[in-house]
Amino acid sequence: MSAMSKNRRLLIAGNWKMYKTGAEAVEFIEELKELLSSDSAVDVTLAPSFTSLEAAIQAAQGSSISIAAQNVFWEQEGAFTGEVSATMLKSMGVKQVIIGHSERRQYFGETDETVNRRIKAALSGGLVPIVCVGETLEQREAGQIFKILKTQLETGLEGIDSEAARRTLILAYEPVWAIGTGKTATPEIVQEAHKFIRETLQDRFDKGLVSSLRILYGGSVKPENAAELLTQPDIDGGLVGGASLRPDVFYGIINYKGI
Ligand code: PEP
Repeated sequence: MSAMSKNRRLLIAGNWKMYKTGAEAVEFIEELKELLSSDSAVDVTLAPSFTSLEAAIQAAQGSSISIAAQNVFWEQEGAFTGEVSATMLKSMGVKQVIIGHSERRQYFGETDETVNRRIKAALSGGLVPIVCVGETLEQREAGQIFKILKTQLETGLEGIDSEAARRTLILAYEPVWAIGTGKTATPEIVQEAHKFIRETLQDRFDKGLVSSLRILYGGSVKPENAAELLTQPDIDGGLVGGASLRPDVFYGIINYKGI
């Protein structure tokens, strides 16, 4: 697939992790709205923490910014203290949800099986899952990258049909060694992984999916490296942590062409 034939809209998604109160989220969104042009060719999503979702949704109203959650539980309701369901998120106006972020896998015991349950809950609750996959440094050094990605994709997406996947699924390749470390994977490394992900999904789903599914890259994306990453044929956007915390810096990624 050549860069010329890339027909997917780029998506730049900011993952705010455990940063920003509601008031700070509103301030950020007001500033970003000033910077965004109405005919931008790039989709923009922000993922605040649960407590700032409501304020962010209000502030983003009437703009092209979508609001995502950072996690979702797989049951619809019940005695699950501290959890939040897809129905609850959807009813607030949340559009997407990040699932299987490496920090959830590393610190909160997330597995490919729980990722799978969360994806199914998101899809049936009307949310678009942004599903994170990626290898650790040890796995990369042991030459296991493709094996790890294949397992994460096969188990994570088990039981999800082509139609649901084509309509709504977004993938994010986030090599764990490049997240929050300042180490960006080279465009060639990322392109190779994205191509592998797309080909693996082609075996798993159907061919139409290959051309329509968006695969974001996450790992120290910043304005300085956005252009070289986002112009790769199989990179369809960025999942951005640190550089999404300031509107001017985040906009520097969205406006990677410097228009
Ligand atoms: C992330 O948290 O998804 C991420 C990619 O973080 P950073 O951009 O800070 O590496």
